[in-house]
Amino acid sequence: MDQALAEARAAALRGEVPVGAVLIDPSGRVIAADGNRTRELLDPTAHAEIQVIRAACRAAGSQRLPGHALWVTLEPCPMCAAAISAARIELLYYGADDPRMGGVAHGARVFDHPQCHHRPQVYDGINAGESRALLQDFFAKRR
Ligand SMILES: [Zn+2]
Repeated sequence: MDQALAEARAAALRGEVPVGAVLIDPSGRVIAADGNRTRELLDPTAHAEIQVIRAACRAAGSQRLPGHALWVTLEPCPMCAAAISAARIELLYYGADDPRMGGVAHGARVFDHPQCHHRPQVYDGINAGESRALLQDFFAKRR
């Protein structure tokens, strides 16, 4: 999670909403790490999770990432939760809850739908205070 938080801080420095993600392969290696890049890439889908899933799939030469673990500083939104499921990621660790945009414990609760064919094991609240502080600091400065 420390590396995901570092990616979130780097995203803030680029003027992006500070969310960072890291993907770990089944042998425990970091296969991808990135932060939000929606502004830089002019791409509303360039969330941290999507960035690392794309990079990891390219590295793995596969559209699926079984046995992989995704660490992300904020509760994934519905789009990212759907991508996590489609990628067959085994473990999801996230930091702060996101009652406004989250799609795991809030809102769409993507993994709880009967139409969701793959549900990762989910561990929430990891370093949540630091993740939330980064977001609050970022939005306070923009007001
Ligand atoms: Zn997302």
